[in-house]
Amino acid sequence: MNQPLPFACHQIGLVHSPFKEKFGIPRQTGLIKGNLGKIELLAPWNREEALNGLEGFSHIWVIFIFHEAIKPLEDWRPTVRPPREGAKRQGVFATRSPYRPNPIGMSVLQYHGWEKSNGKLFLKVSGLDLLDMTPVIDIKPYLPYADQVPQALGGFAHEAPASNLLPVSFSELARQQLLEVQERYPELQALIESTLSHNPRPIHFGNIDQRNDFGVKLYEFNIQYQICDTQIWVVSLFKNSA
Ligand code: SAM
Repeated sequence: MNQPLPFACHQIGLVHSPFKEKFGIPRQTGLIKGNLGKIELLAPWNREEALNGLEGFSHIWVIFIFHEAIKPLEDWRPTVRPPREGAKRQGVFATRSPYRPNPIGMSVLQYHGWEKSNGKLFLKVSGLDLLDMTPVIDIKPYLPYADQVPQALGGFAHEAPASNLLPVSFSELARQQLLEVQERYPELQALIESTLSHNPRPIHFGNIDQRNDFGVKLYEFNIQYQICDTQIWVVSLFKNSA
């Protein structure tokens, strides 16, 4: 009888993302702007030759581990509730939920070349929907001729979820703080605006009609904001102490 060969799954890289917590991360790539980051290749896979030829590709598939969604086997459920409003439970294999038999995810990210810094090798990417420190297990080029399927059907998820984006305004203090860090984070304002326009709020809040204070962690900042009726008001950018 043929026995399958045992295999090992190596962590080849590490994601450096502005998203320091799951709250506020877009549900998929390409939904927001300013979500730039890097993938650090780890030894012994941090060889420049391993990236030869990738310069001609605009996008890459990043295969990774949902390291903050790992549950014991006995907690396995065959269905999950998609985070769309009013969505019914669906079979886990009909969703892109992080909670699956193997916590493996895949994202198509825009590739902006690689760089070396302090002896480390990084791929520059944008369109991240990944938490900081996410382990990467593979990188492959996105092949338009094979991966793009214009006539594909999207099932219950045929449209991007957020069609009712909220306008985002900044307090004088927040504007001043943005100016102070603009040189280091030129895309921070765009990242805050597009992250918050998707109206992130803790699940238990449901619909709220009064002012509430929220915070979302982006880079080393804790962005304090309020949801006022149908708009978002950014109060300030605090530096995280950690
Ligand atoms: N594009 C990928 C896919 O389809 O496999 C990810 C989609 S998944 C719905 C995206 C969500 O996973 C994010 O909104 C965030 O809440 C969560 N997430 C991202 N990185 C994670 C990680 N390392 N561990 C656990 N959850 C993570």
